[in-house]
Amino acid sequence: MQGMMQDWQLTCDRILTRAKISHPQRVVVSRQVDGSITRTTYGEMYDRARLLSSALIKRGIKLGDRVGTMAWNNARHMETWYALMGFGAVCHTLNPRLHPDQLKYIVNHAGDAMFFVDLTFVPLLEKVQKDLKSVHTYVVMCEPDQMPNTSLKNAVCFETLLAEGDDNVVWGDFDENTACGLCYTSGTTGNPKGVLYSHRSNTLMAMTAAMPDTMNVNGSDTCLMVVPMFHANAWALTFTAPMTGMNLVMPGPMMDGASIYELLESEKCTMSAAVPTVWLMLLNYLEESGNKLPHLREVVIGGSACPRAIMETFDKEYGVKVIHAWGMTETSPLGTVSRIEPELADLPYDEQLSYRLKQGKPPYIVEMSIVDEDNNELPSDGKTSGRLMVRGPAISNAYFGGDGGNILDKDGWFDTGDVASIDPMGYMQITDRSKDVIKSGGEWISSIDLENAALGHPAAAECAVIGLPHPKWDERPLLIVQLKEGMKADASSFRDFLTGKIAKWWMPDDIVFVDEIPHGPTGKISKLDLRKQFKDHVLSTI
Ligand code: ADP
Repeated sequence: MQGMMQDWQLTCDRILTRAKISHPQRVVVSRQVDGSITRTTYGEMYDRARLLSSALIKRGIKLGDRVGTMAWNNARHMETWYALMGFGAVCHTLNPRLHPDQLKYIVNHAGDAMFFVDLTFVPLLEKVQKDLKSVHTYVVMCEPDQMPNTSLKNAVCFETLLAEGDDNVVWGDFDENTACGLCYTSGTTGNPKGVLYSHRSNTLMAMTAAMPDTMNVNGSDTCLMVVPMFHANAWALTFTAPMTGMNLVMPGPMMDGASIYELLESEKCTMSAAVPTVWLMLLNYLEESGNKLPHLREVVIGGSACPRAIMETFDKEYGVKVIHAWGMTETSPLGTVSRIEPELADLPYDEQLSYRLKQGKPPYIVEMSIVDEDNNELPSDGKTSGRLMVRGPAISNAYFGGDGGNILDKDGWFDTGDVASIDPMGYMQITDRSKDVIKSGGEWISSIDLENAALGHPAAAECAVIGLPHPKWDERPLLIVQLKEGMKADASSFRDFLTGKIAKWWMPDDIVFVDEIPHGPTGKISKLDLRKQFKDHVLSTI
């Protein structure tokens, strides 16, 4: 027997339509490429996005076509998302920090028909455009008087294009499983692979993100969305904000500590989300300037492990609660969130902290398990580590174009490539990425745990651990440290600091100092580059 409920497809256009009806006056603040601040509302954004949809349709874009964007977080970028998704085109966000060869590969693989580009990236695209075979028009996201003299093919100013549109456009009216967004994972092995979101998966993730035990947001919040819109759906916030009605503030290209602080303060932001590097820069700025954060309630930190020092400093110095989250492009991206549950509420601060530093528990739409090499499920005892598997309605079932073949096991689980344990309370803790784990004498050393322990050293700005070959133990850890500016410390001070904080046999064999630890396109430490840099390093213990 079928239920007797209406057929109401979960398409993303409904999100902005709701914002237009329910809270059109709520504001969207953007920092532009030139540093200036502009303000719009969800009401205006809806009107403009519909004009843009109509203009794009007039220029031949249709359901299922891919259109690329290379832009910072700003209102025009968001209007582009909703304009495309509204009539079933696929919004393909590209990370500007990609190597040009990868960029070419990705655009050609996706077959993008048009391309939206912020002023910052015009020169980059001019250089590669001859190899971007499918792109017939470039839209420069600026005012008419800012339009550069560019060689980009059929270049048109965003505002000029928008003026071609009218309100005679139908949004929605297609199946909720229709493709909606495309985002390539950075592909540390092999070519990048396209994760193709659907309207349904994005809508479910947006609702999930808002829940109290997830990001805990509502219409009274103002969100500083630092996490880039080209990084895994901006952790669903581009949808969750208009859905719930929270004001949205976007930092554009300026993500240094002072600029982030300025927006947090001037817009009285109550929540924010970004990778640890951004928060490290903010905390450094606050320490130097003596400023405080009176409005900020919570920050969500994910993308890589949240160091203990960040969580403690936010708690103790600024009264801001850090919420640790884990996810990946393939999981839309929220996979787990760590919040203190009532059963843990009476624990002392330090014990609560150890739970909060885990990656946390999956929301309703994510199932999770850990398995051994033969796919046998492992116990949730908080000690046993294994391959982390996930499944759910907002998790990939294949990559765009069928790359990589079948990516699910026979029971529909997706292998995350992470190694994790799950404790009896259900909190998951990442111990490593499978390819970063250090295998010493048959036992695993977690590079993440070692990095976090070392980062507690007062002189450490950033730390990375990689495994190097060792004749007796197979692999042993090398700790690579970037010191805070103006600070001095030597290897023995790090050894002393780590003693007692880690198992004895985890002590790095060597500790080396570098001017700068390299980062990949999503701002994470690039172990690939570090492995190349230190491939000839011979451990002093050999
Ligand atoms: P890429 O794989 O291209 O870096 P993703 O953003 O999809 O891009 O990265 C997902 C990976 O990032 C996860 O599989 C995990 O290894 C890591 N990650 C994300 N959040 C956390 C976290 N909170 N703690 C530790 N690792 C994390």
